Amino acid sequence: MHQLFISFFSVLFPPRCVSCETRIDNPELVCCAPCTGKIILNSSFFCPLCGARIPPGEKTCHTDARYLLGAATSFEQKQIRDLVHSLKYNGTRRTAPFMARILFEYIRRMLPVNALDFSNYILIPIPLHKRKERMRGYNQSSVLAHELKKIFVSSNLPFPEIRKDILARKKYTPSQTECKTTEERRKNIAECFSVSHPEYINGKNIILIDDVHTTGATMGEATKILKRCGAKRILGLVFAKT
Ligand SMILES: [Zn+2]
Ligand SMILES: [Zn+2]
Repeated sequence: MHQLFISFFSVLFPPRCVSCETRIDNPELVCCAPCTGKIILNSSFFCPLCGARIPPGEKTCHTDARYLLGAATSFEQKQIRDLVHSLKYNGTRRTAPFMARILFEYIRRMLPVNALDFSNYILIPIPLHKRKERMRGYNQSSVLAHELKKIFVSSNLPFPEIRKDILARKKYTPSQTECKTTEERRKNIAECFSVSHPEYINGKNIILIDDVHTTGATMGEATKILKRCGAKRILGLVFAKT
């Protein structure tokens, strides 16, 4: 029944590539082969303050950076922008498994998977304000985190616990994309997060996951409060950076 519905649906609305809009035969795919082939995967971590590449195992150039930035791809690529846009605004989670697969390939490239040890780690998706999440129907960072977990589990790899009850967004802010300057973004988001269980954070390593890292204002605010609560190492993991 389900399958029949899908094929009926795809006759009426043939699936199209989220980037170039060519028709795709396989309804499970979101990006056509040529667009997928154009996606360039990053091969380093980044300093969140100056954007410099940090090879795996090396220290951040800015010692005052509160986190290490892991970004799978670049937002400069059209395919990447289209994927992010589709996940965020098309009211569809269809793109999430594809994006999580790209994140997974990046993590595999950056960290030796046979040595992965997440025992003292927790993973926190950057939260949306409750009202915004209700309007969108989901939090795109959380959807990405869960899709990523599925890939790790099916590959028999350890994955940190996903905690959505620790960090909350207490301030309803206009969309970051509406703020033009870095300063505006920073003001818009200042002190917008709260932590409900500081005891879960104390002494823990944290992976913060988000879809996009632009000026770093959001990640900067989130890591500020997490560090205040005693977080040890923080990795900001995003699908794309500008
Ligand atoms: Zn395409
Ligand atoms: Zn730097």
